[in-house]
Amino acid sequence: KKLVLYKKKKNYNKKKKQKGKTGLSCFQQLGLSEKMTRSIASNLKYNRPTDIQKLCIPKIMSNKDVICISKTGSGKSLVYASTLIDLLSEHSIFFGIRGIIILPTKELVIQIYKLIKKLCINFYNLKVNMIIGGISIFKQFDMLKTNPDIVVCTPGRLAFILEETKMKLEKVEMLIIDEADRILELNYYNDMNTIYKHLQGTCKTKQTLLISATLPTDVQNYFKLKLNNPDIVCINTDA
Ligand code: ADP
Repeated sequence: KKLVLYKKKKNYNKKKKQKGKTGLSCFQQLGLSEKMTRSIASNLKYNRPTDIQKLCIPKIMSNKDVICISKTGSGKSLVYASTLIDLLSEHSIFFGIRGIIILPTKELVIQIYKLIKKLCINFYNLKVNMIIGGISIFKQFDMLKTNPDIVVCTPGRLAFILEETKMKLEKVEMLIIDEADRILELNYYNDMNTIYKHLQGTCKTKQTLLISATLPTDVQNYFKLKLNNPDIVCINTDA
């Protein structure tokens, strides 16, 4: 009996520690909703944010454009996955693509698609789709007609689909470009230009997040005018 009591006390202290002084969990203190905090704890089993998450999440939740630079493995994916889901679910009555995540490779798209789906389990009712090479183009056209809230894609395939369908992206509220350095290294300039062309006239409050492990001059120059007075968070970079 003593042992049970001891264990209970230990768990209680652990919970108290995670909730900190304010009574809010660590993730909630960053501005995420209680729902997202519970999803992170139950679906991902994380209780504490990493440094880059601590620095970037509050800025994104207050609707700032953010350039987030930090080394691979520092937890950048959750920075944008959690904030995107939380911000979009604040008003999920709208139809049409409201969040776009662009990544340089098919493998990364699949990885982030899975993360978003996982974060939604039992908590959010958002529709998420992937646009990548290797899946029938007709299937992807049909899929887009079903009005996903979030699309995770490679620049090449998204640009191709946009040109073919003349689809408008006027509902997009958040654009996220992850591994921005690799996107330019792989010479996706033309595809990115096409995507930006289709994004013209988007929702005026559109927020952009640029995520990368390094910020070389060509990346800075290319994206300089495409972000709105961004906050730059740069810690432990790869180069
Ligand atoms: P990056 O995008 O910066 O390369 P990832 O987002 O892929 O990094 O995260 C690297 C690893 O850290 C992943 O295995 C991820 O599951 C894990 N991770 C991310 N955030 C947390 C956290 N708050 N607590 C524990 N592990 C985390």
